[in-house]
Amino acid sequence: MEIFAEAEKLAGLDKKGLWSDENFSATPPEPLYDPVVYITNTGEKYHQYHCQHLFQSKIAIKLSEAVRMGYEPCSVCRPAVVYVGY
Ligand SMILES: [Zn+2]
Repeated sequence: MEIFAEAEKLAGLDKKGLWSDENFSATPPEPLYDPVVYITNTGEKYHQYHCQHLFQSKIAIKLSEAVRMGYEPCSVCRPAVVYVGY
């Protein structure tokens, strides 16, 4: 049991590591890291779930899809920025 708890801790640390990777654009993208982001009916940006810009409409979409469709990261909520190599 203790081993499982330790593994969970490590997984949590890994997640945090991925999030902080946003700050380093030179870091190679993690191919499996494709979180859900949110777009609006009218906007050209994608957002994190809690972003204030999502009050009118909120459409869940995969980050890789959003990037491929030409959406750009919101400068307010700073969603994850990952370029998946398509
Ligand atoms: Zn936003």
